[in-house]
Amino acid sequence: MRRTKIVATIGPASQDPEVLARMVEAGMDVARLNFSHGNRELHAENAERVRAAANVAGRQVAILQDLPGPKLRVGAIEHDLADLKPGENLMLMCGSNELGNGRRLSVSWPGLADAVEPGDVIYLADGKIRLRVSSVRSGAGEVETKVEVGGAVASRQGLNIPGSTKGLEAVPAEDLDMLRFGEEIGVDLVALSFVRSAEDITTVRRHTRQPLIAKIEKPQAMAAAEDIIRAADCVMVARGDLGIELPIEEVPLAQKRLLKIAGQLARPSITATQMLDSMVSSPRPTRAEATDVANAIFDGTDAVMLSQETAVGQYPVETVAMMASIAENTEQGLPYREWNEHRVGRDARDPAYTVAYSACAAARELHLAAIVTPTLSGRSARLVASHRPNVPIIALSPGRETVRRCGLMWGVRAASMRRHEVTEALIADAARRVVELGWVKPGQRVAITAGLPSGRPGTTSLLQIQRV
Ligand code: PEP
Repeated sequence: MRRTKIVATIGPASQDPEVLARMVEAGMDVARLNFSHGNRELHAENAERVRAAANVAGRQVAILQDLPGPKLRVGAIEHDLADLKPGENLMLMCGSNELGNGRRLSVSWPGLADAVEPGDVIYLADGKIRLRVSSVRSGAGEVETKVEVGGAVASRQGLNIPGSTKGLEAVPAEDLDMLRFGEEIGVDLVALSFVRSAEDITTVRRHTRQPLIAKIEKPQAMAAAEDIIRAADCVMVARGDLGIELPIEEVPLAQKRLLKIAGQLARPSITATQMLDSMVSSPRPTRAEATDVANAIFDGTDAVMLSQETAVGQYPVETVAMMASIAENTEQGLPYREWNEHRVGRDARDPAYTVAYSACAAARELHLAAIVTPTLSGRSARLVASHRPNVPIIALSPGRETVRRCGLMWGVRAASMRRHEVTEALIADAARRVVELGWVKPGQRVAITAGLPSGRPGTTSLLQIQRV
């Protein structure tokens, strides 16, 4: 069984029901709907199609709604494209709707003129174009820049300023509206773009009970990483924008640092962007990409993500299959023992950590077939998964949402079970259920974690080792 989870972005290349079914078959665990693109009707349809494909395959596939957040964009441009030449001046008109050209571009955010000063850099076109601010006329909302590295910029492409974006709200009103829409169409997880502080997460929490994934893609988020990851339910190393806003050579260590913090805080993690990028147009990845996926798994990521590869690429199914294969091979060489001991910073006040740690040690020493964790909120499964056992983790929950959300957690297979009020009945039913599912053979030994009193989240305090 593969332990590393695969998140795949749904787009024109993958929304056909037959392609989706093959992607589920190949190993897609989480389908990402990128709300920066596409319209709502399409996302609703795609959510339905993903659920249908998962049902047919008899697999759980979680749906992740990725909100655009306070992303800065240039406005519309004459003929949709402008060629910016090195050495030329370019005026940015902040908060204006004027049609842009090679000399003047409008920018969606009026506050840009107050956020930059002469000498600052601004990036366009995915970081390919670099502008240097030469002067600012704040009152007029104008920022004069010189093009340092030129190139073509298209209408409504993103704009990155590595500095502070204090005046920008954490969740634009449009994102809140999308959040409500996501709940209507039954998404399971929500990712927040351009998070800058833990308060950005708590602000969104006031509007939703969905699990929140903090996308780390700004230098300010790197500086506040520990607080942000603690406030969030999950973290994404969003290497696309991070690689624009940080010097690109700093991305590898940033990834390692974020994944280490996620492990210490027992938060699931996703590593994203350009993992198998060449497979957008080639049936095989490069050696470097295969090694990048493996290294992210060695860094401790729970999930690896595909963006363009499955959204617009020519080989969406093959890419998922390749990722699954790289993950399975890599998992044979992971430092399970060392991770079990040191990966999580265990909270000495909370027995659930000790139970999770002990279940993993027991699985290794007693050669158990699996660790079975009945879980109401998913927390027990998350704590066991964070300790990286060398056997499958089976999460059983009466909550259908919990079952799907476990899809992101490393090594966890999840299924539904009845709700119980008596611990003995819960353990007996869990033992019966894993055999019924065919995930453990009759007579094999497993570790079962449980809570006393049963039926309340946050009470896991019992570890039982038994044959099923
Ligand atoms: C990223 O920047 O790496 C990312 C995942 O975000 P998006 O695809 O929304 O730019």
